[in-house]
Amino acid sequence: MIKYVFITGGVLSSVGKGVTTASVALLFQSMGYSVTIIKVDPYINVDAGTMNPYAHGEVFVTEDGGETDLDIGHYERFLNKNLGKKNNITTGQIYYSVIMRERKGEFLGATVQIIPHVTNEIKSRIKEVAKEDKVDIVFVEIGGTVGDIEGLPFLEAARQMRLEEGFNNTAFIHVALVPSLRTTGEQKTKPVQHSVQELRRIGIQPDIIVARCEKPLTSEARAKIALFSNVPPEAVISNYDVSNIYEVPLILYEQGMHLILAERLKLPVLNVKMDQWINLVERLNKSSKTLEIAMIGKYTKLRDSYISIVEAIKHSSAHLGVKPIFRWIESTDIEDGKIKIDEEFNKFRGALILPGFGKRGSEGKISSLRYLREHNIPTLGICFGFQLMAIEVARNILGLSGANSSELDSNVQHPIVDLLPSQQGLSLVGGTMRLGSKLIKLVKGTMVYNAYGVEYVMERHRHRYGVNSKYLESLEAAGFISSGISVEDSVIEYMELKYNKFYVGTQAHPEFKSRLLQPSPIYTYFLKHALNTS
Ligand code: GLN
Repeated sequence: MIKYVFITGGVLSSVGKGVTTASVALLFQSMGYSVTIIKVDPYINVDAGTMNPYAHGEVFVTEDGGETDLDIGHYERFLNKNLGKKNNITTGQIYYSVIMRERKGEFLGATVQIIPHVTNEIKSRIKEVAKEDKVDIVFVEIGGTVGDIEGLPFLEAARQMRLEEGFNNTAFIHVALVPSLRTTGEQKTKPVQHSVQELRRIGIQPDIIVARCEKPLTSEARAKIALFSNVPPEAVISNYDVSNIYEVPLILYEQGMHLILAERLKLPVLNVKMDQWINLVERLNKSSKTLEIAMIGKYTKLRDSYISIVEAIKHSSAHLGVKPIFRWIESTDIEDGKIKIDEEFNKFRGALILPGFGKRGSEGKISSLRYLREHNIPTLGICFGFQLMAIEVARNILGLSGANSSELDSNVQHPIVDLLPSQQGLSLVGGTMRLGSKLIKLVKGTMVYNAYGVEYVMERHRHRYGVNSKYLESLEAAGFISSGISVEDSVIEYMELKYNKFYVGTQAHPEFKSRLLQPSPIYTYFLKHALNTS
């Protein structure tokens, strides 16, 4: 029998439900169970691809080209396993297929309703993932907060699944915030009590409560939550603030999360094997050697916009035994003169030019690139960052002052970056970029080839524009050489400046495949150069 564990959220969103879910799943994976995780997003968007990063943070891209919620990124990074489009279910997808089926007459004259038609569609999608992935346990994180109108059909589907799959095959974990008063430090449990009441009102009694709190829960707070939520005190687990998210599985383990859930699901408790994980967490926390990295982008006010990149740097840092210090540079502040490149940039040991869309902030990035290139500071340009590298080289080495991307200037004189041929004439915006994993052939002897150590690599993508191959010869003559081309559609995937220590651009997003246990080779190579140890 497949086991289903539903994770709901209370009080506030963004309290770390995704990391909690990934951590619990990791504990069971480390016991030898095969697991998968589904994220349910109750919004009407079909996927996260059309959402501004300021609204929901980064759009995470899966191998199969899904544009998903950033929690899928946490799941992959914790489980060290690829998930797919199907692991992110939204209200938009559910209604889309129910309505299409109705149009085809599949409901045979029935009145199509939320219960049972919408809830049946939700349940069948969850079960399909379980079957396809052939797992022992499926964790289903329900986005948003209990009490949200749009989350109701999903909670109702979860409630029905308990009836259909059986008590021992389903469990409910409720993650809720326990705030502390700044003046007294007292932990207040009332919001959790209310959110549990709200859950019970719709027929769900949680089995485990995870309290998100600043400090470990006091025994009084634990007892109170247990009493009012109708669970034993040992099933109230505190998920307190830790210095890095990779510690979360360890603090849940210490409190016996795996024992309680295994008992609840009638699963044998096996040995939790996490030696390598623990080792890396310690390295990350203990290393005293620091490295200042500039993060140059235009969504820097919401750090979640670049979460996979931040995590990729942490993964490589853990392996290299350094502590990264992120210096966030808002590229529009460079354009407005609020940040002076000459005064700020000389302290950086490395810089990342972050991905992005649109004109705003792009000139700030180009000015930054000029300084970084001329001062031989190790630099990694990602996607849009890579495209701007090519434009900067064209303008300032080749002297093509009219160099730009046709995304940024429709009357561009020298379209160094242009719309990809495959992107011409598209009418729909959602799900139509060049997406997902592509096979890339690297050029032997280049820095990128040395970083990966193999000739063929697969990396993930999300873009419409690319470096224009008509200008490749001139760019290469200027020293900015191609170091990798995609096999299927000949897109220029990597370029590097042959005169610099490390000045590399990638059209792909290698950060999407970086995991704590398996960091991205190109990020590690970049950091090695920033550390001067390569
Ligand atoms: N805006 C650029 C494009 O569409 C880059 C996208 C990105 O950085 N992800 O090609």
